[in-house]
Amino acid sequence: MASKILSLVKSFFSKTPSYVIFFITAKCNSRCRMCFYWKNIEKHQEQKELTIDEIKKISRNLNNIQYLSVSGGEPTLRDDMPEIVKTFVKNNKVKFVSVPTNALQPERIAGLSEDMFRSCPGTSFRIALSIDGIGKEHDDIRGVKGNFEKVGETYRLLDRLRSKYRNFNIDVTTVYSSFNKDKIKDIFNWVEQNMKIDNHVLLLTRGNPREGIAKDVTIEGYEKAAKFVEKRTFKKRGRRKDIRLTLLRAAKLVMRDVISKTLKQKRMVLPCVAGDKFVILNETGKVYPCELLSMEMGDLRQENYDIKRILFSAKGRKVKKFIKDTKCFCTFECAIQNNIIYNPLAYPAVLKKLVFLR
Ligand code: SF4
Repeated sequence: MASKILSLVKSFFSKTPSYVIFFITAKCNSRCRMCFYWKNIEKHQEQKELTIDEIKKISRNLNNIQYLSVSGGEPTLRDDMPEIVKTFVKNNKVKFVSVPTNALQPERIAGLSEDMFRSCPGTSFRIALSIDGIGKEHDDIRGVKGNFEKVGETYRLLDRLRSKYRNFNIDVTTVYSSFNKDKIKDIFNWVEQNMKIDNHVLLLTRGNPREGIAKDVTIEGYEKAAKFVEKRTFKKRGRRKDIRLTLLRAAKLVMRDVISKTLKQKRMVLPCVAGDKFVILNETGKVYPCELLSMEMGDLRQENYDIKRILFSAKGRKVKKFIKDTKCFCTFECAIQNNIIYNPLAYPAVLKKLVFLR
């Protein structure tokens, strides 16, 4: 525990990001109506994606990483997903790994997950199953018939692994959009009644979704849903007592408040650390500060796979200066979470939430 806190403190001084979202593939077997990555998914070309050898070079040039989110596309469509994760755990001592999944291939997902849990016993994993509606409504939002049933199968297979491994959580994520804005309570209630999960996260549709109407929601509607989720989180303790996860849950509650304030006041609430503590790598090796700002910081393939050369290049510095000078703001949850973690001024708010969670 002490070593984990120490490594978090060290990450304040690291010259490379400690939170990395890595889109390991743009291949996807869903066609979600609110997907912000849909353009990359539609033009996906497997042969152009980073190979495992290239990924190993990238990893060797990064310092330690606290949190790695292995994303996509559907990340579990890459056979070498466990090898990618093991590479970062070995070279960068990753403490948390998050894998969001559409849960369309239950056996495959459980197999790849077990490989990671078994090989990396010192790392905490989070497998996040997407549930955006109940039954056919989920299938309709995700563009795949039978998807809802597959989520249930995936959950059952992962649930069985709980007796063997203690280093993983099963989470559910629901993306708040115009397609399900009136069904949030029903979805959360259904999950509570049918699954033993560790955390149910509500995300807000972001970027330029496949169907623009996905963003036809009101601030009031989102706030109401977020308040409902917050009350639920206060009521329900995590399945396992882990102070780090409880802290993270408290930070997520503060994040919710920051999002509401940002939406209402249309301004930066906390300075953004994207491009510094937090970074996006895409499937072809391009580096971005976040998922929303389409300002490329550089291309790892052209910089000998060394992210430091990108972060401290003229182009990289220009992007960071832009974020600072324009007081860039958005509602991207992962970025806000980092803005809280790396801003001591936000800690009193986190502690306040923590009091209710303990
Ligand atoms: S505020 Fe949002 S859009 Fe701007 S850099 Fe940060 S994460 Fe990206």
